[in-house]
Formats: sequence, structure tokens, C-alpha cells
Amino acid sequence: MTNNYSFQTKLLHNKHKFEETTGAVSVPIQHASTFHQNDFDQYGKFDYSRSGNPTRAALEEAIAELEGGARGLAFSSGMAAISTAFLLLSQGDHVLITEDVYGGTYRMVTSVLNRFGIEHTFVDMTDLHEVARHIKENTKLLYIETPSNPLLKVTDIEGIVKLAKAHDCLTFVDNTFLTPALQRPLDLGVDVVLHSATKFLSGHSDVLAGLAVTKDEELGQRLYQLQNSFGAVLGVQDAWLVLRGMKTLHVRLEQSSKTAEALANFLQKHELVKKVYYPGLKDHPGHAVHTYQTNGAGAVLSFELEDQEAVRQFVNSVKIPVFAVSLGAVESILSYPANMSHAAMSREERYKRGITDGLLRLSVGLESAEDLIADFEESFLAVNKEKVNQ
Ligand SMILES: *Cc1c(COP(=O)(O)O)cnc(C)c1O
Repeated sequence: MTNNYSFQTKLLHNKHKFEETTGAVSVPIQHASTFHQNDFDQYGKFDYSRSGNPTRAALEEAIAELEGGARGLAFSSGMAAISTAFLLLSQGDHVLITEDVYGGTYRMVTSVLNRFGIEHTFVDMTDLHEVARHIKENTKLLYIETPSNPLLKVTDIEGIVKLAKAHDCLTFVDNTFLTPALQRPLDLGVDVVLHSATKFLSGHSDVLAGLAVTKDEELGQRLYQLQNSFGAVLGVQDAWLVLRGMKTLHVRLEQSSKTAEALANFLQKHELVKKVYYPGLKDHPGHAVHTYQTNGAGAVLSFELEDQEAVRQFVNSVKIPVFAVSLGAVESILSYPANMSHAAMSREERYKRGITDGLLRLSVGLESAEDLIADFEESFLAVNKEKVNQ
């Protein structure tokens, strides 16, 4: 019924636009943990809320449609979705995983999966030859994030899928940074898309949630069994918050991406900024691949100042963005990877990956570009002044 609509329309005009029995235009929040069965022999669609809940199901159907997958599943956090998806693997399997993977995923792979006999190798996924070189006999999964955090490195999704298929491996993509509004990995042959819906999908810094979407029904059924077994399902209030946030996903990302582009251009010209990382910039090494496989550059960028002192002065002066971990919200969020997302990594390891003491990450919100640029301009003056005064 909705297949021909554009993404923007699909966000609103879906099966859950209104509820059949009352006409309610918001998905009802169904708190019940258990469901009365009318027939001794034939149970209804819902019996127990860990196994299935109408509010959670509405979100699961919505994300499956938006990603173009067969089955969507909602979890209590992004990490719950990612960890549960890893349970598709078995003892003795090997995972090839992007070296700049999200910190929580890094922790799961290196300190949990290893105890269950699942091996891993970290590899630079922007280099397909490197990836090919590290595929082993027991490799069962290629795991990618594109663009990656915090340096916005771009991986060629179709290239990875080709390698995976040639070696009978699955491909997972963490699509948190772009969402299906800008990137649809399943269309490019990926098997499972994962999300921290805590970020852009819900969009308001007010809920923790995770989503997984499988391309085919068989894998969907296996992942559903794991969701039901592990039990890290999303609560109904939270499912409702994600559903509400998703209605404005397109307009939020469109606006924030435009502002991110303006800011990237401004930062690139500023004398105090050593480097800007944004896949929308023509001199970004992944620009061509990114442009080919997405509908936009997104709302996250990183930039590098001289050193930690410059960062400190800038952050102490800047007024509009909140200074916090996380991303993908209506308010701009400025993060300091060295002390936040990558605090657990040694300085040497960080520097090897280009995550210097001068690096800041910005997730652009819905404030006006002019206000943000003026705020940044003023804060750069503070950096200058301090330096002159020293
Ligand atoms: C935040 C994040 C996660 C983890 O999601 P939670 O909802 O915090 O558990 C995973 N991947 C990426 C890329 C993220 O930004």
C-alpha cells in the first residue's frame, strides 16, 4: 500500500497512521505483560510481552519498512541490539570488524565474545585489499560502520558485501550515523542493519533504544529467537518515544545536514582549525564512495584544534552546543573523544587512529547555522586571546 511513497511520506503514512478500533492517530501504549487467550487450542498473535507487544511491534514494523528489510526488532539499547545480533555467531567463528568501531561494540567483541570462543580481527575497512587479506577459513561476519566515529571514515558497502558473499559471510552495518533517511545498507546487499535509536532515529536525547533489521525472513526469525531468548526488549514507553521521534526524522536530518555542511565549510577556512572531517567535503578521502552510496553527508563532523589547551578554551567559551557524549539530537552536541568515547584507549593507540588531544566531534542540531557559526567564531577568539595573553 505504501511502497510507492517517498521516504519522507513513509515516515508518517504507514500501517500505524491510525489505530483501527478507535481511530487514534498515535500508536497506543500497551502496558500489558500478558494477553488473555480466547481459545484453548489456538493462541492469539500476542501472549507475553517479551515475546511480542503491539506497541513494540509497531516500531519494529516501521523500521523494517524504512530500511527495506523483512523483519525489524527493537531492543533496550543500541548495545542490546548489537550484542544480540552477535549471538547469531557460534563458538569457533571469526569476525572481521572495523578498527574504529563504536566503543561499546569494541568492548563486547574484545571482552565478552572472546570468552565464548568467538575470534575477531580489527581491520581498516576503507581498504578492501586489507579486508580480503584478513578473511580466514572460519570468518563468518564482516562488521562495518560507515561513516565511522569520530573520523567519519567511509567504507565501500558494496565492496564489502561482494567479499562477504564470495566467502559465505554475513555483513552487518551499524547505520546509526545516517539512518535509512540517508543510507539503506540492505539495498546494497547487507544482511543486518543495526541502530542505536538513542541517536537520530528518536532524536531528542530522551530515550535509550536499539533496533535491528534483517534483509530476509529466515535470518529475521533466527534473530527474533535470540531477542526472545536473551530478553533485552524495548519497553513500551520507549518504543512510543522512538516512534514519535521518527516522524520528524527526515526534516530533522535534512536541516541538520545543511547546517553541518555550512559549519564544515566555515571550520575549514578558520586558521585555528587544523583539519575538518566531514564526508560532504570534496577533499574527504571517502567523498566519492560516500556520495555514491548515500543520500547525504549527515549531521556529524569532527575537527581538530592545535592541542588540548586550545580545545579547553574553546569548549569553555562555546555557548550553544551542550558538551556531552552522544549525538543525533535536536540540540547540537559537542564531544571530546579523547576523554569521552575513547577514554579507555591509550594515548598511543588513539594517536595511531588520528584521535588526537585536539580533536572535537560535533553532532549538529536544529539551531540556526548563523547562530552556531557566530558562537564558534567568538569562541575561537577566546582561544586566540588566551594564547596571546600567555
Ligand atoms: C551510541 C552508539 C551505539 C550504542 O547505542 P546505545 O543506544 O548507547 O546502546 C552503537 N553504535 C553507534 C555508532 C553509536 O553511536
